[in-house]
Amino acid sequence: MTNGKPCRVCTDFKSWSRLEKQKGKQESHHDKSTSSGESTTATATAAASAATAAASVTVANKDVSTSEEWRKNNCPADVETLGRATWTLLHTTAAYYPEKPAPSQRDSMKRFIESFAEHYPCWFCKNDFQQAMAQEPVQVESRERLSQWLCRRHNEVNVKLNKPEFDCTKVFERWLNGPPDGKCDG
Ligand SMILES: Cc1cc2nc3c(=O)[nH]c(=O)nc-3n(C[C@H](O)[C@H](O)[C@H](O)COP(=O)(O)OP(=O)(O)OC[C@H]3O[C@@H](n4cnc5c(N)ncnc54)[C@H](O)[C@@H]3O)c2cc1C
Repeated sequence: MTNGKPCRVCTDFKSWSRLEKQKGKQESHHDKSTSSGESTTATATAAASAATAAASVTVANKDVSTSEEWRKNNCPADVETLGRATWTLLHTTAAYYPEKPAPSQRDSMKRFIESFAEHYPCWFCKNDFQQAMAQEPVQVESRERLSQWLCRRHNEVNVKLNKPEFDCTKVFERWLNGPPDGKCDG
């Protein structure tokens, strides 16, 4: 919960959707038990026009407004889409970090990771990440050190979520060069 509302970026889409439906039911129950006949009519009219509006986005028997593709491009992030996009940014940034960074590059990378850890919008992800950083501070001495440090942080989350651990010797294959068989080269 953030400010009394469920935290969307802390929840996967299915759970979020369930929470929203429950909230809707509670609100409509509340409306029914408190409203006069006149406002019930108004609600019914509003519901009818909402239904008409929803129908207007139905294309070839497919509701575009709720398709997976539409959601991907138009809805706020949930914990999974945000996570995937963020790991992509972090691992890719580490993979392109200099092999021998200048002192100013080390400083700015350290600040970047620390600021990231302060501002990541999923609060419990952020808390765990900060705790991990307190135990093993970010390593900015080289591309290799930074990439391996991040790989370990990501694996900690994988373990927490019962996902398989990633083989950190493959981090540059995954995030910089692609596999040797050229599958990612088009
Ligand atoms: C800092 C941070 C903390 C998070 N904490 C939580 C949390 O507490 N709870 C929660 O539910 N979600 C959390 N997430 C989101 C979670 O980690 C996943 O991003 C999300 O569950 C989607 O998972 P995914 O299976 O699509 O792949 P992701 O875990 O997002 O991984 C994307 C890709 O990265 C590669 N990869 C996997 N592991 C590694 C690794 N160790 N090193 C390098 N590459 C790797 C794989 O190719 C994988 O397909 C967090 C995300 C971030 C950025």
